[in-house]
Order: sequence, then structure tokens, then C-alpha cells
Amino acid sequence: MAIYKDDRVTLSPEDIPKKWYNIAGDLPVPIPPPLNPATNQPSKPEDLEAIFPKGVIAQEMSTERYIDIPEEVRDAYMMLCRPSPLQRARRLEKFLKTPAKIYFKREDLSPAGSHKPNSAIPQTYMNMKEGVENLTTETGAGQWGSALALSCAHFDMKCTVFMVRVSYDQKPFRRLIMETYGSKVHASPSKETAYGRQVLQENPDHPGTLGIAISEAIELCLEQPNTKYSLGSVLNHVMLHQTVIGQEVKQQLEQIDTVPDYMIACVGGGSNFAGFTFPMIGDKIKGKNETEFLAVEPASVPSMTKGELRYDFGDTKGMTPLLKMYTLGHDFVPSSIHAGGLRYHGMAPAVSKVAELGYVTPISYEQSETFEAAVTFARVEGIIPAPESSHAIKAAIDKALEAKKTNEEKTIVFNLSGHGLLDMGGYGKYLHGDMNNTH
Ligand SMILES: *Cc1c(COP(=O)(O)O)cnc(C)c1O
Repeated sequence: MAIYKDDRVTLSPEDIPKKWYNIAGDLPVPIPPPLNPATNQPSKPEDLEAIFPKGVIAQEMSTERYIDIPEEVRDAYMMLCRPSPLQRARRLEKFLKTPAKIYFKREDLSPAGSHKPNSAIPQTYMNMKEGVENLTTETGAGQWGSALALSCAHFDMKCTVFMVRVSYDQKPFRRLIMETYGSKVHASPSKETAYGRQVLQENPDHPGTLGIAISEAIELCLEQPNTKYSLGSVLNHVMLHQTVIGQEVKQQLEQIDTVPDYMIACVGGGSNFAGFTFPMIGDKIKGKNETEFLAVEPASVPSMTKGELRYDFGDTKGMTPLLKMYTLGHDFVPSSIHAGGLRYHGMAPAVSKVAELGYVTPISYEQSETFEAAVTFARVEGIIPAPESSHAIKAAIDKALEAKKTNEEKTIVFNLSGHGLLDMGGYGKYLHGDMNNTH
């Protein structure tokens, strides 16, 4: 195949965004605030200070359209391989025989293998600046834990990670990555916390959920001195940090004079979707594009396609403030699908609000369809995608096949949120016929 300019659209290191984009500055209505469950009143900044540093809380509540990215954070973004390329999937187009153009943003190139360090870095930086020495967190598939472990190594902080039991068993190398970066890792539910012990007493074989792991991480944070907690998705400040992705994509699309018909990302807690799309959704709110934004979730964890929009806890025990979000209920136990990062009962309040306003099209797929798309993508494009990202790939393929039917040259851009090189257990099950839609 001949090589064209848009096969890989790159930016120079100076093009790493200098500001994060905050969609709250452009929405016609506020994102509903978190509520203190004891009073049902909006949480005060002081309520959150037990678990988050002040810098994070200020960003969480900010309605400023742009927020400066500190120099040390931009510098660490360099280490993450930012700005990441926008790449054309020409081989996939050819394989599908579609007139559509398909591009994907390469968040798989970060050292932790996903987009998650984009928020781990600034969160760790703000904690370090305020003199915090230890961070606690939860991780599903291990991606967030790896990201926080990486950033804690970078800023010389200690880190304890509660890893959802099924992922701990399915993905042993993720644990070793975190340990290599110097973090402590416990399978959750664990014996390390009172809540973990309680859950284990009721069910010693509990597979764990993100909600339970969050409860454990918060419990340890509240008990251990000089410790804060860090969340890898869902909250406004995480969506904010991830907008480096979408701002780069905007610059890259401008370079090739393209406005996409579709932008597609998978959704777990909503952060890669938000980061990838919010800068373009901000433009859509101002009437500058007619792009459709697809949020893709697993059929077995259908928070947006089947959940209710209401206030609910972010964790299982009910330790977090109440968040207004699409939710399946905080006691929802998702099946043990391999897209561990998508096994969350709720959806970010910011994404939920933008969806309620009609800017998001949520869709869902069964696990086996997403693995089929992943294997196709790996064989034609050479990249083994994360099971989470495969949801976006499946939707991109379907849109490209629709364009083939109608013979339209649609432009489809999806976010490749991570690589799947540590998810080969799932691929093994798919390839050897041991996979169904729940495990
Ligand atoms: C964690 C993760 C997700 C899901 O989380 P979001 O906050 O919805 O982005 C998606 N893809 C990958 C590769 C992940 O690690």
C-alpha cells in the first residue's frame, strides 16, 4: 500500500496541551454535585479532605473552562509518550472493504499500557506537593493500579493497591508490574480491612468488585496517617486530566482537515471516553461540529443502556459521597468478564450529564463479539488491543460496515484506550473456545 500523510498524524513534544479542558465551563447546566449521605446536602470541600488533597478537590469543583497543567506534569506526560499518534487503520478499512476512513488514538503506547497514567500523574503530583506520603487505591483489571504505581515511583511516593480478586487471579503479571514499580498489592476482598474481612466471612470465594475494592482503599486511607486515596475514573477531576487525549486529537484532526462523523470510546467509569470526546463535545455544544459520540459498554454491565440516572454511592459499602449517575445500583455484582476495567456499576456524573443532554449515544456488546473484533484488529493492524478497547473497535467496525452498505465515506475515530498484552488469558479462552458472555 502507498503511504499517505494521514497514516500516522503526530505532534511534537511542545504540542502536549498546556491546559486541561473542563466541560463544566461549557455545559448549559451544572454537573450535579456530590452529596454528603448524612445530610443529603452537597459535599463541602472539607468533607472530602479526609481522602483527597486540596488541589484535587479544587479541580473537582471547578467550572473554569481551562485549567493550567503544571510543568512537572507536562514533563511526566513526555515520559508517557505524549503526544500519542493518531493512526489510520487502512488495513482494517481494506479488510472490511469499506469506503469509511477509520482512525484511532494510540493510548496503548503509554508505559503502563493504557490512558490511565494521564490522571495518575497529576493526582500523585498534587498529593506530593501537599506533603502526602502514601496513596491507596483500587484496581479492576490492574490498569489503574499500574498507572498509579508508575506515577508513585516517579514522584517517590508509597502506594497500596486493592486489586479485584478475579483480575488478581486472571492477570498475575499486572500485580508484578505494580510490585516492580514499588507498590503493595492485595487481592480484594482482603483480610487487610474490616470491610474486606466482613465480605469474606459472608462469601470466602467472593470474586470482588471495584465497589468493594474502593471501600477497602478508603478504609485504609482513613486509618493510616499521612495517606490519601486516589480514584482512577468517575470523578470530574479524572475526566479533566484525560482531556489531554481529546485536545491532541483535535489538533491532529485539524492537521488533516477532518471533522469526524463518529467518535467512539469504551466506557467503564467514563474517563477515556470523556478525555477523548469532551473537547469535541464542547465544540458541538457551540454548534461547531455534528459529530456523533458513541459510548460502548459491555452488555453484562449496562450502566448507560439499562441503568437508572439517580444519586448512588460510588462504592459498595457506602463510604463515598452520593454521585448523580447512570447506575446499576452500588451492590451490583458484574459477571467476571475479561474487560475488568469496564466492570463498574456506575458512570461518571460528567458523562452521565452530557448523555442526559443528548450528546452521547450509548451502545453495548456481548463479550464474545468484542473479542472477535479484537482478533480481527490484531490480525490486520498488528496491535493486540485491551479487552476494554475492543468494545470501541467492535463499534467502529459496525459503523464502517454500515458505511459500506450506504456507500458513504464516513470518518470514524476511536480511542484505543490500551493494549492487551497482559490480557492473553482472555484471548486464550476466546481462541480455544472456552469463552462465553459472562466469563
Ligand atoms: C480502565 C480502562 C478502561 C475503562 O475506564 P474508563 O474510566 O471508562 O476509561 C478502558 N480501557 C482501558 C484500557 C482501561 O484500562
